[in-house]
Amino acid sequence: MKMEKSPVIGLTELCKNYRTISAVQNINLLLSSGECLALVGHNGAGKSTLIKIILGLVKPTSGRVRVLRTNPSDKSFNPMRRHIGFLPEQVLFQKTLTGRETLSFYARLKGLPHLDFESLLHRVDLLAAADRKVGTYSKGMRQRLGMAQALIGNPKLLVLDEPTSGLDPIARQNIYKIIDEEKSAGATVLISSHVLTELDERIDRVAILNSGRLVAEGSIPFLRQNIEMPVQITVTADPAGCEKISGCAHSDITVVRLAKDKLVFRCSPEEKLALMRHILISNTKIADMVVTEPTLEQVYTAYSRPDQMGGSYD
Ligand code: ATP
Repeated sequence: MKMEKSPVIGLTELCKNYRTISAVQNINLLLSSGECLALVGHNGAGKSTLIKIILGLVKPTSGRVRVLRTNPSDKSFNPMRRHIGFLPEQVLFQKTLTGRETLSFYARLKGLPHLDFESLLHRVDLLAAADRKVGTYSKGMRQRLGMAQALIGNPKLLVLDEPTSGLDPIARQNIYKIIDEEKSAGATVLISSHVLTELDERIDRVAILNSGRLVAEGSIPFLRQNIEMPVQITVTADPAGCEKISGCAHSDITVVRLAKDKLVFRCSPEEKLALMRHILISNTKIADMVVTEPTLEQVYTAYSRPDQMGGSYD
């Protein structure tokens, strides 16, 4: 008989109230090893509260939480902490310590005094600055040191709050490379982020929070499909060609002439391939055809504002 692996994070009907404020309402969520989930939502949606509950820093009002098969509010969770790496949104380090000394301090807290700091510092591109005081580091360097601190001890669970905040494009790419490496090594990664454009293609699933409620959860293709957001196909052809292929649209497909040589079709994901085939066999000389799927930002907006469902996403 195949044994089901228990999830790394399991939340069941989770609620957290602060007096009259319902910060988190009835959340059900499972996250397995090797998965990367992005927690997205507006300011005050409940992301930090959820992260604090997962880390055992805040006790839920009701519901069940299991992290690495343990209740984070229990004493028995303390030994589990060494398997969790956490990068907070605001990284504050002792300015008078060097980068290397800082990592040594956190490694000792995790009971790992003999850690290989060289490879950790190398991974976040801080080897050259390892023996400089953190007070002389730029914001991006402090953020990368924060990432190195989170990676201490090969955590089974990485919780990253705005991991690319303050980083330049190359450093951001490096953070996502590290996340991929950790995932491949079997770690579970939970990212809280506002930078949705960056998360596209890099995550397995998204959880969208709105006023404390989980309004959508799944892979980006699943969420696109589920909310029936249209796919956009932009075709470039000479004016006569445009005229001809505009006839490929039927009642469920909209077509807009953007310029005399450019047409934009909007159709459901199911109709996409049939429409492309129809255009290609129409015997028209096509200069270009570009398919644009809704981005995570557009998916997020559609789930956050139901009036936009299925609408345009220019
Ligand atoms: P942001 O993106 O702005 O960081 P968030 O999604 O992390 O927001 P939370 O910080 O979890 O949101 O806050 C959710 C709700 O709970 C908000 O209405 C907030 O004001 C409230 N809240 C959070 N912490 C407390 C607290 N300690 N006491 C009272 N209310 C709180």
